[in-house]
Amino acid sequence: MDRKNINPLAEENIYKHLEKLEKILGYTFKNKKLLKKAMTHPSFSSDYKTDNYEVLEFLGDSVVGLIVSEKLVERYPQKREGELSKYRALIVSEPGLARLARKINLGDFLILGKTEILRGGKDRDSNLCDAFEALFGAIYLDSNLDKAREVFLRHFEEEIFNILKERKIKQDYKSYLQEVTQKFFNERPNYETIDERGPEHQKTYVVKCTFRDFVTIGEGSSKKQAEQEAAKKMIEKLEAYGYSLRKKKSKNKLKFSENMDIEKEKIREVDDGKSRK
Ligand code: MN
Repeated sequence: MDRKNINPLAEENIYKHLEKLEKILGYTFKNKKLLKKAMTHPSFSSDYKTDNYEVLEFLGDSVVGLIVSEKLVERYPQKREGELSKYRALIVSEPGLARLARKINLGDFLILGKTEILRGGKDRDSNLCDAFEALFGAIYLDSNLDKAREVFLRHFEEEIFNILKERKIKQDYKSYLQEVTQKFFNERPNYETIDERGPEHQKTYVVKCTFRDFVTIGEGSSKKQAEQEAAKKMIEKLEAYGYSLRKKKSKNKLKFSENMDIEKEKIREVDDGKSRK
């Protein structure tokens, strides 16, 4: 391998710098080269003709996937395979693993090529996710699966369940709204993307949610996120009229406006027999 482009002093510095990562991890590599390789982005290896993390990432993808799978099976013994797969996909997704990587400041240890540094590569989700996988591929090779598991769970056991919790709440708005509208009206709300603005890499989506005469608007960095926000607002509107699954006894203090075409029979059904004006 042609290494003449590398300043040996700089390489020394790299190892010294990586000791800080070992401290954060609470794991000391027997083979320091493995750690360096795990942190080396392909942009650096093409600039300086060194190895990069791609093969370790390939291996680490399986290591992390297995550790997360085990934990999910242990935590949710009653869940079916389909649901467990969804959970795992959320955790080992690019934003999911990037989030774990940020917890140990992994971006500070990435060894990047010049252009990648200029592109803000230290904080890019894709780089953080890949290097994170590579890191656990490296620990696995340097020790074994037990050690990789121990290090992973010591740092991230709580966080992986936080990822699931947050996602679940978010997912709930849309499905919850549909439950409400199906139950009380036997209809579904409608979602429509009415605007996309901003540059390609940081677009804002605007989604309109319509249900009967009600309209709510949600914004977000993805269509899904915008839909969730619109659904959340729609839930609030319907709840103001007592259409809620959360409280068993609804107090219908408000009335739908006159121009709303709602079958009176259905309103009566859901009104728990309470009197209306
Ligand atoms: Mn990857």
